[in-house]
Amino acid sequence: MASSEQTIGTRFLLYPQAPTTPGYDKPELVWISDAQGSILAGPENGRMYVVNPTQHKTPYEYPYLPPFAGPRAPPVEPSPDGHFDHIDPSSPDFLGVHVFGCVARILDVWEGYLGHRITWHFSKTYERLEIVPMIDWDNAQSGYGMLEFGFDAAPDGTRHPYALNFDVIAHEIGHSILFSEIGLPAPGLPAGPDLRAYHEGVSDLCSLVGMLHFDTAMDRLLRRGAGNLMAMNELNRVAELADERQIRIAGNARKMSEVSDEVHDKSRPFTGGFFDALVQTYHDIAVDQGLVHLPSGSIPDARALNGDLERVYAEAFKADYDLKHFPLKAALADARDIMALALARSWGRLDSESLTYADAAYAVCDALQGNGQGNIADTVVECLAWREILTPYDIHLLGRDRSRSAAWF
Ligand SMILES: [Zn+2]
Repeated sequence: MASSEQTIGTRFLLYPQAPTTPGYDKPELVWISDAQGSILAGPENGRMYVVNPTQHKTPYEYPYLPPFAGPRAPPVEPSPDGHFDHIDPSSPDFLGVHVFGCVARILDVWEGYLGHRITWHFSKTYERLEIVPMIDWDNAQSGYGMLEFGFDAAPDGTRHPYALNFDVIAHEIGHSILFSEIGLPAPGLPAGPDLRAYHEGVSDLCSLVGMLHFDTAMDRLLRRGAGNLMAMNELNRVAELADERQIRIAGNARKMSEVSDEVHDKSRPFTGGFFDALVQTYHDIAVDQGLVHLPSGSIPDARALNGDLERVYAEAFKADYDLKHFPLKAALADARDIMALALARSWGRLDSESLTYADAAYAVCDALQGNGQGNIADTVVECLAWREILTPYDIHLLGRDRSRSAAWF
């Protein structure tokens, strides 16, 4: 095998969405950064391994913990040239290979934004993450040193393996990345007031950004709405039409005064505000490049105007869409990378023992300012103020008196 080939990486087939999702029944070929031939049978590498128990296994629960010591199926072999895209997606072997590939992909994506390798938060106890792709359990869990999956039982009794669900896998790895990058409160100390809700929301955003790295997802999202992502936003009350679960979650319109203290519910305003800022950034790039002509205004404007502005947006994107698909796809990729980079760089500024949503919002703005993108920081302020995460008083303290957001108060 030529060394130039080895550096390209290792091929896997991944489903960008659960394969039952319309339009996502075929997996996409993805390159994982591990050098060709370096991922061994299992699959396994230096940071994780797959085990397939051959007898009934109960979910891990303290004091029952990894490593798995029972009988296991033989490891799944790579192809003769070191790849894993030869496994038939309908075979049981595919489940573990798919989870392994999804975890490796999420790490590749987020390590790229962070600019450093992520060390597992459990590395003092376990060298590697254990992945159990299928047990007889209608649930999935990520715990200290392990990830294990059961199935989602449909009303008709059909079992859909969570191991094929990129969204579930990416969300769990999102938690792991946050544990590594922000840390945990010291034993005996309470968590920051918004830490748990932030964890849930940002794990959803890790999954959303991961999904936006699949060509299949980018093409479907853009072509379905003729480039208009707001068509899939709760803004116009058709969010339920979005096929991608990440978009349904992030496209929400919830404000802090409308959510409870339950962590998933409380995570929605931050996730939604971040998504609005991403969409606004996409619009701004598209306008700057002359791809669309949009009236001045913002996502919060559009929400306030009850959909009138959204209809104007839809018409503007639709004009000659076929001629603009690829430039708009590049604009969306740019917006994704600007926002994800700022999110990743915000983590080093946060403290798990005192974390509030406002701190987290400012940390993203500071990261954007640090990247020379103060105008996009203003967009974040505006979108998170609409969510009631930042208040006019907070913004006054920021001293951004020339920002677009200042006009709002
Ligand atoms: Zn979670």
